[in-house]
Amino acid sequence: MAIATVNPATGETLRTFEPYPDDEVTARIRRAYETFADYRHTSYGQRGEWLRAAADLLDAETDRTAVTMTTEMGKPLRQAQAEVGKCARAMRFYADRAAEFLADEPADPSAVGAHRAYARYQPLGVVLAVMPWNFPLWQVVRFAAPALMAGNVGLLKHASNVPQTALYLGELFERAGFPAGCFQTLLIGSGQVEQVLRDPRVAAATLTGSEPAGRSVASIAGDEVKKTVLELGGSDAFVVMPSADLDRAARVGVTARVQNNGQSCIAAKRFIVHTDVFDEFSARFVTRMKELRMGDPTDEVTDVGPLATEAGRDDVEELVADAVGRGATVLTGGVSPDRKGWYYPPTVVGDLTPGMKMYGEEVFGPVAGLYRASDIDDAIRIANDTGFGLGANAWTADPNEADRFVDELAAGAVFVNGMVTSYPELPFGGIKRSGYGRELAAHGIREFCNVKSVWLG
Ligand code: NAP
Repeated sequence: MAIATVNPATGETLRTFEPYPDDEVTARIRRAYETFADYRHTSYGQRGEWLRAAADLLDAETDRTAVTMTTEMGKPLRQAQAEVGKCARAMRFYADRAAEFLADEPADPSAVGAHRAYARYQPLGVVLAVMPWNFPLWQVVRFAAPALMAGNVGLLKHASNVPQTALYLGELFERAGFPAGCFQTLLIGSGQVEQVLRDPRVAAATLTGSEPAGRSVASIAGDEVKKTVLELGGSDAFVVMPSADLDRAARVGVTARVQNNGQSCIAAKRFIVHTDVFDEFSARFVTRMKELRMGDPTDEVTDVGPLATEAGRDDVEELVADAVGRGATVLTGGVSPDRKGWYYPPTVVGDLTPGMKMYGEEVFGPVAGLYRASDIDDAIRIANDTGFGLGANAWTADPNEADRFVDELAAGAVFVNGMVTSYPELPFGGIKRSGYGRELAAHGIREFCNVKSVWLG
């Protein structure tokens, strides 16, 4: 894939970039490694000051950064602006809390025959981040903020279709005061990732993206015995029970499906509705999906912009066509509009069965699948009948049902009467083919630390 800014709203190539040659990549790895030697000794207070300065820069540059993101991957401008704000908030969160999350953890000295014993969190070193385009700022910041606060240094290999956002991030931290070399962008294609992973100066890697990319990075890192965190795809369930507030569930469900033009790993993708309220919920949901305004992502009133790439649009078209060819029903949408850019309309598909690709694969676009459940057991069965395990949404006013969903839905997160969202305060990650490891909260900052046992006699 060429490294280029191609506006998905028009299909026009705006800028292309040459990938860094191998010697430039090596020089940047060396610089990161050398920077780490001193950077690891800086205090939490100092790192926090720099990170707060980076948050202030983001705030001051919100509009320009948001326009870049929208131009490169097509998300509605309002959502791009909100993404910048969320990044600044996460930076301040880690600036405030890192010292507490990484404080020494005392152990009972008498139990281990010591005078004093504790666990200490220390940084691992240079961490490679392979990142996707869908939240081009947030995905990177939720890695970078905790990694830098822990004393690690970062190398970013961003998705090839968001190079200008990648370059912005590559300068942001240095502009905020971090030593040069703490966080650098590598403008490289996926074929050059192996070289970086195998470099002995690179200690670990995190990847957010598709399953094939995760498998490739994890197997190379495994061969090198290097730690990885993988944040991969999802096909989150959105279960609706009869006691739920159906109007709210339908309204939030639409947002949960189409936010970011439907290209979110934690988007609600499978709507599993109890048979007693199936018709009523479906009617409300389809009506709201029909009312959405698809169009130019820079337009204030746009709810759904284009998909980020032509290949992404083609994938969505193909999944819907496969389902329809095997007997599924399109309740709204389902046909790409005849216009420039890679638009796909908000779509609802019913009568889905296990033989259809849409049943088992992630649909990365504004397409909701509707499933009928006979009771709560059936709803949980359908919700868990997937290879993914990222998030799950459940709607019910019954506390016993809520307990069952929390306990039995197989996912890294369960949100009851709300939509799955990431917050700096809550750990984020998946199980099954959605990946492993956690980002955010205290868990995220500890992922790339050496948990050193200290025993003093
Ligand atoms: P992708 O094609 O896997 O790309 C993600 C990143 O991996 C890009 O930087 C890409 O580089 C790189 N890459 C691709 N193949 C690679 C390989 N074989 N070796 C090394 N690097 C490789 O994914 P995407 O289409 O951009 O993003 C969509 C996917 O990400 C969805 O499945 C979505 O659910 C998932 N996602 C997960 C989370 C989460 O937190 N769990 C969050 C957001 C998105 P190039 O661009 O140069 O190919």
